[in-house]
Amino acid sequence: MGRTVRWVAAVAVVVVGFAVAVPVAGAVVATPVASGASVAGAASADLVEQVTRAARDRAGAAEAAHLTGAEVRVLRSDRRQAYGTVVLTTPPGADALPRDWLFIAERDGAGPAWRVALDGQPAFADLAARSGVLSERESAVFAAHGGRLSAAVNGDYRTGMGLPWAVGQSWTVLGGPHAHDAGSGPWSSLDLAGGDQRVLAVRDGLAYTPCVGMIRILHPDGYASRYYHLWNHLRADGTPVSAGTHLGDTGTEIGCGGAANARHVHFSLMHNGNFVGIANHIIGKWLFRNGGAQYGGSALHGSRSVPVGGQVQNYGALGRTQGIVDANDLATVNRRSGPGVGYPVSGTVADGATVSIACSADGTSHTGRWGTSSLWNRLTDGTWVSDAYVYTGLAGPVNGRCGP
Ligand SMILES: [Zn+2]
Repeated sequence: MGRTVRWVAAVAVVVVGFAVAVPVAGAVVATPVASGASVAGAASADLVEQVTRAARDRAGAAEAAHLTGAEVRVLRSDRRQAYGTVVLTTPPGADALPRDWLFIAERDGAGPAWRVALDGQPAFADLAARSGVLSERESAVFAAHGGRLSAAVNGDYRTGMGLPWAVGQSWTVLGGPHAHDAGSGPWSSLDLAGGDQRVLAVRDGLAYTPCVGMIRILHPDGYASRYYHLWNHLRADGTPVSAGTHLGDTGTEIGCGGAANARHVHFSLMHNGNFVGIANHIIGKWLFRNGGAQYGGSALHGSRSVPVGGQVQNYGALGRTQGIVDANDLATVNRRSGPGVGYPVSGTVADGATVSIACSADGTSHTGRWGTSSLWNRLTDGTWVSDAYVYTGLAGPVNGRCGP
């Protein structure tokens, strides 16, 4: 136990310059304070080198070409395993932006070789399952980051996330969906600023600080959220955070490389260690839509569309069995006493309202913004609305089918 505490307190940071050879073992492990604590004895340099190599392999040759440095933080270790963060950095001012992962490494026999797994790789979950260096909570969360769960990016757009600021505040969307590095990858990221400039966790999870200015939170179902360019930020090393925890402030920090011209948070959506297209995912009860080019697009809440440059209010997270009423440019949708237009109207529900769904059943067919559906949702107040006019993030029942 004492050992664990010690490694939490003495996070070892090792910076590797790629233009030069990997540093000699002594330089990496000798100094116990600023430049890094001894992690795994003499094997430390091997560990850093092998983690860095695994990250560069994972990034792929095209992206790795722009990532000229590396920073490895060993958060905890024992005789057999080490775990921490690795970030591949870019030079300050570069167009490219850094890439980061969590890693778990296990000694491969008595020699200098380590078996390294990054989040999103099946071996990551395997090593997490038999790790002595992870807390119970870390093991549970990491099990969902082993690359085996992909449902959440395959037509299930429920994220459980709010926007990264206080509920009720409105911030400006400075940049719509774009690749994390403005390159050719999925358009995973948004540039956001405004309000009190306090950047908050979008959802519960475990937070990490791979390098200065950056925070990544692993959420329990394979999603991760990432925040960059932060000032005054948390130094987290697997720190549990809740939705709304203050992470830092918007800024122009480029501690891991890249560039930021104006104060903002570069917010990215990830799943299983990969950036994923943020479009259509529900975040803060908005769904962001791609533009014709990166940084364009709009945000949609019910029928209200806000183009880039406009302000969006954080309505908080949408529950997994909730939906946002989208009246397809009308003001209201009818509630009925059963699943179809043959049943009497029993009221209306406003465009943009949040509804809670008890169960779903087939009924009359209707066409809304997102297509045609014969599914109807019974709300928790007993009234029914057509699923064609409710955006839940899932094409199908979100709370099961109604019983007979
Ligand atoms: Zn950005």
